[in-house]
Amino acid sequence: MRIDIITIFPEMFEGPFSHSIIKRAQEKGLAEIHLHQLRDFTNDKHRKVDDYAFSGGAGMVMMIEPVARAIEHLQEQRHYDEVIYTSPDGELLDQPMANRLSTLENIIILCGHYKGIDERIREHLITREISIGNYVLSGGELAAAVITDAVVRLIPGVLGNEVSALTDSFQNNLVSPPVYTRPRDFRGWKVPDILLSGNEKRIEEWKFEQSVERTKKRRPGLLKNEEQ
Ligand code: SAH
Repeated sequence: MRIDIITIFPEMFEGPFSHSIIKRAQEKGLAEIHLHQLRDFTNDKHRKVDDYAFSGGAGMVMMIEPVARAIEHLQEQRHYDEVIYTSPDGELLDQPMANRLSTLENIIILCGHYKGIDERIREHLITREISIGNYVLSGGELAAAVITDAVVRLIPGVLGNEVSALTDSFQNNLVSPPVYTRPRDFRGWKVPDILLSGNEKRIEEWKFEQSVERTKKRRPGLLKNEEQ
């Protein structure tokens, strides 16, 4: 899978993309992530990509020309399945959406800034708008990093243990059961006996019951297939 990110702060991705699973996915050639500086696509001598909003009001607006040029430059080279804009009012990112995105070949993610982007970009150049939650961030970079992480770890072969992505929370509409590791007893806080019993069938049943109980308590909407 190839992900092209258009941003005015490519440096913001250095941390999240050069460690752990995302790093490994790129090294294994399973994910290609390319960062594009939006300012490289402007003819303005000051490399300006924002301007005042028509009709006034607080905040600058990201201009259409550089964004159109950046997107079209990429589209001339290959077909993109989705051109995504990170937006607080977009579709909320959830596990089924991450699963679907992980099956795509090429996607573009545009990170907004300032007061947002010229509405005509959304109308004519963007195919999907994604929000990572009902709160406002200063820019789309953190959202793009979250989307990329959630998607890339699902690409087959990225996680060492294939099963582990499928047993994470939200797969099968359930949250994960609790997990424990050594020591068995820490200050008298004990690991549940069942997990030490060696009875695999009963352990699986226990984990499933725990998942259902936790989902009822913490994310009841998942059991009814509702948005959280
Ligand atoms: N004025 C806008 C917010 C702009 S925030 C509004 O009220 O809707 C600046 C940029 O940050 C946005 O263009 C968007 O790309 C990004 N952003 C902010 N919050 C986000 C969220 N919850 N999910 C995804 N992107 C977000």
